Amino acid sequence: MLVSQAIREAAARLAETSDTPRLDAELLMAHALGCSRSDLLLRHQDTAAPAAFAEHLDRRMQHEPVAYIIGEQEFYGRPFRVTPDVLIPRADSESVVDAALSAAPEARRVLDLGTGSGALLLTLLAELPEAQGIGIERSQPARAIAVRNADQLGVAHRAEIRSGDWTQAGWADGLGRFDLIIANPPYVETDADLAPNVRNFEPAEALFAGADGLDDYRILIPQLPDLLTENGVAVLEIGASQTGQVSEISNNNGFSAQVRLDLGGRDRAVILRLRLG
Ligand code: GLN
Repeated sequence: MLVSQAIREAAARLAETSDTPRLDAELLMAHALGCSRSDLLLRHQDTAAPAAFAEHLDRRMQHEPVAYIIGEQEFYGRPFRVTPDVLIPRADSESVVDAALSAAPEARRVLDLGTGSGALLLTLLAELPEAQGIGIERSQPARAIAVRNADQLGVAHRAEIRSGDWTQAGWADGLGRFDLIIANPPYVETDADLAPNVRNFEPAEALFAGADGLDDYRILIPQLPDLLTENGVAVLEIGASQTGQVSEISNNNGFSAQVRLDLGGRDRAVILRLRLG
């Protein structure tokens, strides 16, 4: 079978499982052939799709995300290594990066809470060549992924990935203050109806935050004033329906909150600034 035909048939089989069947089939084939997706066109007339492709397609048919199968996800135009120890960086979170870059274009010290793969922190360090950053992550395997991504993106000399858990007293001792704090904390309601590719494969500790999904904001936001410089800003990812509640928690802790949308037009981030006086 020609590679082009194998991709076509795979895309047809994935139509029920995936919202992006053709893209998935192309990414799996490129991975199996050891080429980039853009180079796939040059291989379309090759015969015999590689054996790994069939195995990977079967895994995708069982809802396993492509990013975990191929070990990589593109975010803000850069490749990130991912494993099931980290949440897969989502296109929606690119709007958190945009919000941070517009709110704090001169940031020199950046703190990322719950770094995971490092997608948010390392992207910001790549975009802000003068900045230094610290990423806090409680999972050791996730920290190893973030360190690897920092190396791969050439920002390791400006990134420190630290062990820490903001539910434990003293986690922030000695960190100092930051011009920019970013976080994509867990914010999903515990009994939310998630798609199987998320619920069955992604790390629960990166997704779920209590019955209303707000547990981590309640713990984090009151700690932010002591971590920010005078004109510092915090940019937090939120669930699309959480704007009112997260703004209220923020207001109660001395912040004004400004909402940013994702490309789908849903609320996706809040920009927090300390109110004066
Ligand atoms: N946006 C993610 C999802 O719904 C959730 C990310 C998070 O909890 N931080 O799959």
